[in-house]
Amino acid sequence: TWKQFPENVLVLGLARSGAAAAAALLENGKKVTVNDAAATYEDTAVKELQKKGAHFVLGSHPLHVLEGKEVVVKNPGIRYDHPVVAEALKRGILVITEVELVSHLTEQPIIGITGSNGKTTTTTLVTEMLKQSHCKVKLAGNIGIAATEVAQTMQPDEKMVIELSSFQLQGIAAFRPSTAVLLNIYEAHLDYHGDLESYVNAKCQIFKNQDADDYLVYNADDPILQEKVTDAKAKKIAFSATKQLEQMGAWADDTHIYFFEEAIMALEDVVLVGQHNLENILASVAAAKLNGATNEGIQYVLKTFSGVKHRLEFVGRHKGRYVYNDSKATNTLATQKALDSFKKEIILLAGGLDRGNEFDELIPHLQNVKAMVVFGETASKLERIGKEAGVQAVAHANGVDDAVEIGFSLSDEGDILLLSPACASWDQYKTFEERGDIFVQAVHTMD
Ligand code: ADP
Repeated sequence: TWKQFPENVLVLGLARSGAAAAAALLENGKKVTVNDAAATYEDTAVKELQKKGAHFVLGSHPLHVLEGKEVVVKNPGIRYDHPVVAEALKRGILVITEVELVSHLTEQPIIGITGSNGKTTTTTLVTEMLKQSHCKVKLAGNIGIAATEVAQTMQPDEKMVIELSSFQLQGIAAFRPSTAVLLNIYEAHLDYHGDLESYVNAKCQIFKNQDADDYLVYNADDPILQEKVTDAKAKKIAFSATKQLEQMGAWADDTHIYFFEEAIMALEDVVLVGQHNLENILASVAAAKLNGATNEGIQYVLKTFSGVKHRLEFVGRHKGRYVYNDSKATNTLATQKALDSFKKEIILLAGGLDRGNEFDELIPHLQNVKAMVVFGETASKLERIGKEAGVQAVAHANGVDDAVEIGFSLSDEGDILLLSPACASWDQYKTFEERGDIFVQAVHTMD
């Protein structure tokens, strides 16, 4: 299929995926120019690609980089109104992203996963379920290695699991996953895509090249998706956290998880918490079962997987408290989901960068919160809503580490100790990861 791929390629934006794309293209005999405003001739990646024959234009984005080019492979983060991209489109030059090259590099089955939320969790679950079922899989995309790099190492009996963003999917032409998973669509990235419709359409590109032998796993509780998938040619497999789907796919009742009519496992054995994670689990069960996973493999993963780091991750039981790290919750919606995930009494650790939010929308979700420990720029605002919601105790801390100490002193055995800040971390920490790591360290010192 490389013969049909144009000879003269511009790779726009180096980064990890651009470097991987350029290397794959050069190896397959294409002429490659790389244009990047930030990279320098001293960078290792630049030197290595120069050795392989790549031509470089660095420091700026002059339009002459498009001379003689038939296709542009652009970094997914670069917008379509970027001068070089806009000019390419005006001249009728094909603009794609790196994942499109995967379809030229391997014929092995691909499980592609997209959605506004839950991609990383679902991609991880599917990969682990297949591994624990002794199926051979490789992981690629946002969390792993660049997709083209992985595609080049695929063995005849292997499958590839890829996490796909709407940015990547907007730039595909022939890319075709044999199993596509569409988790949900929330309004997001509208600055990039322009409007909700083009964002939805970008996500739905995931199934546009599928045919009748392929599978499309979709969320039957999402009204936008339900309507959109009626156009799909693939076999449709639904999942739902609210409806019984004996004839359609993966679902759950109060006690078990099912795939069609078969009970897969008891819900009480699942470590992950939260309704949103149940959706991710059901999508994963469907995708994994369709690709040869065993019930034992699925059970093992769901009995042991405590969540992706910093995403409502179960840290463990410490001094009798159930501790969860949800440092990734940088807005109130994520914290609402976290709070709604528990039936037991919660000690909530929250606070961070002040973006002008008053947090009133958290109040209805604080019923099970018996104490709050607040820190950072938003501490006083959170104290106000805690008091308004009738939370028994609200304490101030300097940071997430002493918040842990105070949180332990305000809690009893059997309580939930939850870091779910509802705010970005930048007032006190470099990243939400750093904040979460400090939290977990502090929790371990309490033993
Ligand atoms: P992504 O990779 O799409 O960013 P993650 O799996 O990393 O998603 O989860 C990030 C956050 O998104 C979680 O902490 C949770 O707050 C929220 N989330 C996860 N799964 C879902 C879902 N299925 N529906 C709604 N929100 C979700």
